[in-house]
Amino acid sequence: MELQEQIKKADEMFPEEKRKEIIHRIAEEIFRYEGIKISKKVISAMIKINRGYFVIPSHLKYAYKDAPLPLPKNQTISALHMVMIQLHLLDVKKGMKILEIGTGSGYNTSILSYLVGEKGKVVTIEYIYDLYNYAKERFNMLGYGNIISIHGDGKKGYKKFAPYDRIISTACATTIYRSWKEQIKDNGIILTPIYIEGTQKLIKYYNETKETEEIMDVRFVPIL
Ligand code: SAH
Repeated sequence: MELQEQIKKADEMFPEEKRKEIIHRIAEEIFRYEGIKISKKVISAMIKINRGYFVIPSHLKYAYKDAPLPLPKNQTISALHMVMIQLHLLDVKKGMKILEIGTGSGYNTSILSYLVGEKGKVVTIEYIYDLYNYAKERFNMLGYGNIISIHGDGKKGYKKFAPYDRIISTACATTIYRSWKEQIKDNGIILTPIYIEGTQKLIKYYNETKETEEIMDVRFVPIL
């Protein structure tokens, strides 16, 4: 299926009203099970960006299933509730400059792009060339002008646009890399899954206080 056709079908299958209903339901479930009250801005951004544009065409009908979905090259798009929790914790504000490691489909990137607005910037790095292209094709088609796509190794960060207000990784890291700590603003936040004694934990690091908060057990694909 051509991308243009996929976008058209996604709009038909998951119109805004339907997305609204599903996203609100997931936010309520997160509140019930995790006690996290998802911010209004994250809810609106997730209603706005249609996940159907980003899933592989054969999985379009599952686009609003709250589960990880397959991407080319053994990668996955995170489940909706996971994307929601991460973006809520990241506390993105209009005008911010964000570094994202693991572009994947570009779904999370697109929500970030909406959250930072026209004056903000999202620099996103993808290691696998096919996925870098997959996402880039979508950003171009959708006309998201505040996204800079990079094909490279996110463990090194991306110096050219540093320092960043926020750094988010959607692949499980082995540690908070030195490059990330060097490229984050003084009052910035780094959010990433990392391996701690064999299990994955979602970690929030506050650069101002150098404090690390362990949020919850998670399951992401490992960083390459
Ligand atoms: N956020 C994505 C999901 C990405 S899954 C989405 O919304 O679709 C994690 C992604 O991280 C994969 O695409 C994987 O190829 C990428 N990745 C893994 N190691 C990486 C590295 N060292 N640098 C950049 N990207 C990496």
